[in-house]
Amino acid sequence: MSHSLHPTLAEWPEISKKPVKLQVTNSAVASLHRGHPWLYNERIKAESHQGQPGDLAVVFDAKKRFVAIGLYDPFLPIRMRVLRASKPGPIDRDFFAERISRALERRLPLLKTRTDGYRMIHGESDGLPALVIDRYAATAVVKIYTLAWLPHLYDCLAALLEQQPFERIVLRISRGMKQHPEYLRGLEDGQIIYGEPLSETLTCLENGLRFEVDPIRGQKTGFFLDQRDNRARVEKLAKGKRVLNAFSYNGGFSLATARGGATEVTSLDQSGPAIASSERNFALNADIPAVAAAKHLTLEDDAFKAMAALVKQGKKYDLVIIDPPAFAVRRSQVKEALNAYAKLAHLGVNLLAPGGDIVLASCSTPVTPEYFRQAVCAAASRAGRPLQQIEETGHALDHPLDFAESRYLKCLFAKA
Ligand code: SAH
Repeated sequence: MSHSLHPTLAEWPEISKKPVKLQVTNSAVASLHRGHPWLYNERIKAESHQGQPGDLAVVFDAKKRFVAIGLYDPFLPIRMRVLRASKPGPIDRDFFAERISRALERRLPLLKTRTDGYRMIHGESDGLPALVIDRYAATAVVKIYTLAWLPHLYDCLAALLEQQPFERIVLRISRGMKQHPEYLRGLEDGQIIYGEPLSETLTCLENGLRFEVDPIRGQKTGFFLDQRDNRARVEKLAKGKRVLNAFSYNGGFSLATARGGATEVTSLDQSGPAIASSERNFALNADIPAVAAAKHLTLEDDAFKAMAALVKQGKKYDLVIIDPPAFAVRRSQVKEALNAYAKLAHLGVNLLAPGGDIVLASCSTPVTPEYFRQAVCAAASRAGRPLQQIEETGHALDHPLDFAESRYLKCLFAKA
């Protein structure tokens, strides 16, 4: 290691040697036994003492048998996130090393695909709850969603660096954590906590396509890694097609269709920086003949408005991709979200040449795959273009789904 982790992490005060003992409801014990990684505040009957963020908390059942140990955060409704269940054991560098090596093993197939931008750690589903580590070539972007990670970050990242010689680690902290600056000890969102500052644009490869990544100001950790497999699928549909990519961000789907032989690709997004980034990404891949040959058009506008205008103009495309941001984060927003998906599906099929392909995605966690499909299919039928040959896909292999709440991405492929 030529560098070392930021001194603030190395010098973080030790957590209390006494874990917080939690008495919880029987149903919470049952849920933890089934492997659920969360313990909600309202299911706690008693706490041995008031813990600090990052203390360990232990749950025993009514017969005083060990149930689980995890990270405690007194500020969050999810009071504890499970690190070990059914068998007790230390939470130390070796523990983190074991979880990390297991996660890396799961992702070995990706290394054969000219891909160096992928999710290395996907939180709960990789046994490290509320922690995301995305790799972009030699840079790791570490995003934490609870203050409870801070005292453990040094051990965890030291274990990571032993297995993966990263040049640099960028720290991202969730919005909620910023409400407690006194616990951050000066750490900031976007801070480089290991290695050199970023002196030039960071890029990564996805199935051989190159993308620029801004891990500090970009959306998510800089790139929507979860759509890799769906982009690869879309690429296979694109030969000779005119494509509309709505909510295009930095042009992930646009580039895939261009390499797949699309003659013309329109990237539509309301964000100027996103459109500019998609243009730079086309330039970055101009050495690929099919990308150079495809005509890339851009539209910086609200997608609902722009698609309605395109319908009015009588525009038609052979392939329409619609991958909007999450419209619902809470259950109360589901109805509104379904209306928005229906509206987009209606606009989408109206822009589709007969027999064309439409791809619709939803990353709204509370919207179930069934509701999403029903809303979209009903809207297409109302437009007189019922969806056919429907296929549904979800997450790529680096976004494993080990419990229900981690299932957010839905993607529907169809003809109309
Ligand atoms: N399809 C992208 C990810 C989309 S993220 C990919 O494969 O990487 C959602 C994008 O929608 C963001 O770029 C955001 O700027 C854009 N967006 C959000 N609301 C919008 C709207 N009403 N009209 C157009 N674009 C919008």
